[in-house]
Amino acid sequence: MSRLVIFSNRVPADGPPSGGLVVALQSTMDNRGGLWIGTEPGDEEPPDTLIPRPGETFDRLTMPLSRAEHEDYYLGYANSVLWPMLHGRVDLLDVSSGQRATYEAVNRRLAKLARPHLRDTDILWIHDYHLIPLAAALRELGVTNPIGFFLHTPFPDAGSVQALSHSDSFLRWFAAYDLVGLQTSRDVARFLDAFRSAGAAQLISGRCIRWQDEIIRVGSFPIGIDADGFRDMAEDAIRTQTPPLSSHRLMIGVDRLDYTKGIPNRLRGFQTYLRDHPAEEDRIAFVQIAPPTREDVGAYMDVRRELEQLSGEVNGEFSDIGYVPVQYIHRAVARSAISGLLRRADIALITPLNDGMNLVAKEFVAAQDPEDPGVLVLSKFAGAAEQLEGGAVLINPHDPASVADGIRKAARMPVGERRQRHEQMYDILRQSNGDWWADSYLRALEASAVIRISNLASLGQGSLGPMTSPLTAFPGKL
Ligand code: ADP
Repeated sequence: MSRLVIFSNRVPADGPPSGGLVVALQSTMDNRGGLWIGTEPGDEEPPDTLIPRPGETFDRLTMPLSRAEHEDYYLGYANSVLWPMLHGRVDLLDVSSGQRATYEAVNRRLAKLARPHLRDTDILWIHDYHLIPLAAALRELGVTNPIGFFLHTPFPDAGSVQALSHSDSFLRWFAAYDLVGLQTSRDVARFLDAFRSAGAAQLISGRCIRWQDEIIRVGSFPIGIDADGFRDMAEDAIRTQTPPLSSHRLMIGVDRLDYTKGIPNRLRGFQTYLRDHPAEEDRIAFVQIAPPTREDVGAYMDVRRELEQLSGEVNGEFSDIGYVPVQYIHRAVARSAISGLLRRADIALITPLNDGMNLVAKEFVAAQDPEDPGVLVLSKFAGAAEQLEGGAVLINPHDPASVADGIRKAARMPVGERRQRHEQMYDILRQSNGDWWADSYLRALEASAVIRISNLASLGQGSLGPMTSPLTAFPGKL
């Protein structure tokens, strides 16, 4: 088996994983070994070298970033330009000069430092929006290995892509990959449409496009979790956790405090529910866990203030002796404790305005007691909705009335219907778990790379150039 080399912004430390990307990839790396390369914040003038980090099951190398690089590459271009753009929030774009140049320079530096550590037979898998230009930088250095990319966020509509003043270079970054992996078929459709809107695109198949003499292959690979493992952790957790004192039904939200997660609207939806359901027996206690993230970016401070104000407002309006409607916890909570809370919850309220997948939705389903499962109230704009629409109560997160209606449906759902919906969702989680996700992506990557290499051989080229596709060209434009 070829060695797998993962690239992502951060390299996980040993111990329990946190964050969607690491949760999904760590078990693949624990099982098959390999090398994981990433960056880490460093000093004013960090060494220009990769530093080995200790790890038991696979090797790790990190490139320390200077303070200026951390500011312009990570906080700046990645999180103040690409992150909002990828989530369709072009109103939040902050395109201060110099950030994009640093973003590309960091990717080039990582390629240069990683190059001597790569073997000819390695398979390279690059993750997420921090490192989109990395394959192009590696190709420039003569790397001909299979290189895949997986985007953990949504892919935006064509209009959002065009809001980047260099949208053609952004699209071109994807052309250096053998395969671009996205979370849902909706993302694939938007990806193809972004190229069509940029002009000179020709659809070769539903997963392959010719654009400005480049062939770009794409597919949807919904990221999965180890459902049985998470269920076991949740069962253990409730055995050891102190149960909450509240006699009310428990509703839970678990997110990084990010403006894409729709938490303020979620509270407005709960407020609408409480206004419409004043009876004591309809009361629900809502626990929202939202640890801080990217606090140096202005838009994150704004959402924090808004949330604090709203939770105070809802509690002021509806608190009673023995009843506090909203408990807002602004810190990270251990993964096992989260699993226990998810298991205890009668309802999960997961209402992102836009989300690549949302693993918490899957973790909630995995954690439930199949005999008496809770109900998942889920935004139709979470990637998870594409797989879980048959079992979840889908809502429009922009409309507090729709959120309130979802809570009401969940609170009144009979146990028979809850069991049937849960069983359907749990089956899907088991079929498409984290190992399935990584295996199916890597199989497709290897097949794509074979096509590229056979094209190179037939053209007698030593490096990547314009390719002819063995597939029949689709007549006309998309
Ligand atoms: P994102 O990747 O955008 O943060 P996901 O829902 O896809 O969102 O993944 C988040 C992961 O981080 C999940 O595995 C979840 O259990 C974990 N997580 C989310 N919130 C917290 C928290 N408050 N404390 C600890 N872990 C969390």
